[in-house]
Amino acid sequence: MSKIRILPDVVANRIAAGEVVERPASIVKECLENALDAQAHQIDLAVERGGKESIRIRDDGEGMTQDDAILAFERHATSKIRTAEELMAIQTFGFRGEALAAIGSVARVTLTTKLHGATSGTEVCLEGGKLRHVREVAAPGGTEILVRDLFFNLPARRKFLKTEATEAFHITNLVTHYALAHPQCGFTLQHNGRQVLAVTATTDLRARAYQLFGANMLDSLAPVEFAQGGIAVGGFVSRPHVQRTSRDGQYLFVNRRFVRDKLIGRALSDAYRNILPPGVFPAAMLFVEVPPDMVDVNVHPQKTEVRFRAPQQVLESIVTAVQQALGRSPHFAPFPAAATPPAHPSTTAATSPPTGPHSPSAPAVHAALQALAPPPVAVPASPGRNERQPPPFFTATPHPGAGSVSATPSTPTLPTPEPPDEAATRLHSILGGRPRTRCAGAARRAHPTRPTSEPHPPDGRRTDVRILGQIHDSYIVAADADGLLLIDQHVAHERILFEQRVRALLARDVLVQMLLTPLVVDLSPAQATVFDALESELEAAGFRTTRLAGRTVAVQGVPADLGAEDAKTLLTELLDALASEQQTVSREHFLRELAASLACRAAIKVNMNLTPEKMTWLVDELFQCAQPTNCPHGRPVILRFDMSLIERGFKRT
Ligand code: ADP
Ligand code: MG
Repeated sequence: MSKIRILPDVVANRIAAGEVVERPASIVKECLENALDAQAHQIDLAVERGGKESIRIRDDGEGMTQDDAILAFERHATSKIRTAEELMAIQTFGFRGEALAAIGSVARVTLTTKLHGATSGTEVCLEGGKLRHVREVAAPGGTEILVRDLFFNLPARRKFLKTEATEAFHITNLVTHYALAHPQCGFTLQHNGRQVLAVTATTDLRARAYQLFGANMLDSLAPVEFAQGGIAVGGFVSRPHVQRTSRDGQYLFVNRRFVRDKLIGRALSDAYRNILPPGVFPAAMLFVEVPPDMVDVNVHPQKTEVRFRAPQQVLESIVTAVQQALGRSPHFAPFPAAATPPAHPSTTAATSPPTGPHSPSAPAVHAALQALAPPPVAVPASPGRNERQPPPFFTATPHPGAGSVSATPSTPTLPTPEPPDEAATRLHSILGGRPRTRCAGAARRAHPTRPTSEPHPPDGRRTDVRILGQIHDSYIVAADADGLLLIDQHVAHERILFEQRVRALLARDVLVQMLLTPLVVDLSPAQATVFDALESELEAAGFRTTRLAGRTVAVQGVPADLGAEDAKTLLTELLDALASEQQTVSREHFLRELAASLACRAAIKVNMNLTPEKMTWLVDELFQCAQPTNCPHGRPVILRFDMSLIERGFKRT
C-alpha cells in the first residue's frame, strides 16, 4: 500500500496557518492589507485582550459579492494575480490567497461584506476551517471581519501567545506602521474599549507623522529625499542626538510594504557611523521605492522579508540618502536641562503598551512635554489632542527637560544636491562612519537630548558664530542668532582631525616614520585574522610590518604623527575593535577606525587654556566639517541654549 497521501484541505490550511498566523498581530496585518488592497479610506480596529479574545477590523473598501465572500476562505483563492508572470510585478499587498483560509482554520471567524450600492450584504461564518453558515444580512458598503478565540482548536499554540500587553503592543506597532505608510487612509484602534490610536485621512507622511508622534518628534527628524537609478528613498531619519537602545524606532518600508529587512537596517547603521556612538540606534521612517520587478516579495509567508535584485545598489542608495539628509541640516544637541533618561526605555515600551496620548514612562516628564508642546497650528488637518496616538516606540525614550520646542515645525525645502561623483560619495560614506574604538580623551558622555529647530544654510556652515570665551579650560562659549553655544574643545578638534585624516588616508597621503628598533607585537588569533586581511591597507596607512613566526609581528615603521608606543596600542586596539565586529572588514571601515583613533590621540585635550585665535580657528574649522554635530565616536560636539529657553528661564514669555 502506498504510504504517501495528499492531506485534506483542513489539515493543509492549518499547516499553512502556522506560517501565516504567528500571533494576533499577524491577523491584523493580513486584514489591514486586504482592506488597503480593497481601496479603503477608513479602517477601524477593535481588539480585546491583546487580540487573543477578539479582533474586529472594518473597512469601507469595495466589499465582496456573496460568491466571492465564500471563495475568499478557500486556499489559493485570490483576486489579485492570475498568472505566474504577474508574480514578478506585484502591485498589491496580497497575492498568495492564503491569509483568510489560514485565519479561518485557527479561529472563529465572521465576515460581513457588501459591495457599495448592492441591496444586501453577506455574512460568512467559519470555525476551525469549517463553514458554519452563509446568510444575507444588512450591512454598510465594505467589509468587516471578526476573529474570535484565536487558536481555540490548537491549545499548544494558544499557550505560546505572550501576555495581553505584549500582543497588544505588537498590534499597536503594526497599525502604526500601516498608518504611517498610508496617510490617505484614516485609522482607529481600540484596545479593551479604550482608544489607542486615531488618525484622520491626511495629505502626506509629514502630517501623518505629526498626528502619530507630535511636533516634538518631528523636530528631531531630518527629511530624506533621494532618487537615483530607479531607486527612491524618502521619509525621515532622526538627528544624531536621538539615541535609542534598540531598533524599535525604525519603521522601514519597501514599496509601502512594512518589512523587517536586515539590509535596510544595516544601511541605516552604516549611514550613522561616526555620528552615533556604538550600540545605539537612530529612529527612522524610511520608504524605499524600487520598480516591482527589482524586488521579490514572495520569499516569506508573512511577506515581511523581501529580496532585492540589486541589494548593493539599494544599500548604497539608502546610505547616501540618509547621509545627505543629515548633512543638509545639522542640528545641535540642546542644553540638557534635567536628569538622566530611563535606563532601559525600550523595554518599558515593549511590555506596557501605551495607553493615552503621548504616554512616556514618567508622568512628570509627560506633563513637562505636554506643557512645552506647541499648539498644533502649522500642520494640515491639525488634529485634536485625542487624535494623537502614543507612538509605541518614539515615546519610549522621553528626553527629560526637553528644552526647546519650535512653534513652527518647519522643514526648509532645500535644493537637491547634485549627484556626487564616486570619490565624493566614498569620502562622505567614510566621514559618516562610526568607529568602534573608544576615545580616552573626552571626559564624559552627554545625555541624549531633544533638539531645537533652527534653519541653517544648506551646507551646514555657520558664519554668524561669535566666540565669547572659554570655561573650565575645556569648553568654548559662543553665541549665534539663535542663542548660546557650548562647544567641547576636545571632541570638536577630534571631528576636524578625523575628517582631515580620512581625506589623507583615502589619498594615501601619509608620512612614515621608520623606527630604530622594531616593535614586536604578539597578536591573538582574532587579531591575526584581521591583520592578515588588512595587511596592504595597514601599509598604505603608514605601518611597515613583517609577520614573524606564528602570530608575532614586527613593526618597523609607523604613521609619522604617532609615537612608537602609541602605535603599538593603537594597532592592537584597532585590530580588536575590527575583530569584534564579526564581519568582513572593508577598507572604508578600517580607514574610519584608524582615522578616529589618530584623531582622538592628536586632538587637544580638555583642561587646556586656548587663546581667542585658537578658538576662532577651531570653531571655523568645525563648521567646515561634513558632520560638525558629533565626534567620530558619536558624542555631541555642540550644545545649544536656545533663545526661547533663555527667555523662558527669565520669565519673559
Ligand atoms: P490575498 O490577499 O493574498 O488575495 P486573502 O486570503 O487575504 O488573499 O484574501 C482572499 C481574497 O478575498 C482577496 O484576494 C480579495 O479578493 C478578497 N478580500 C479579502 N479581504 C477583503 C476586504 N477587506 N475587502 C474586499 N475584498 C477582500
Ligand atoms: Mg490578503
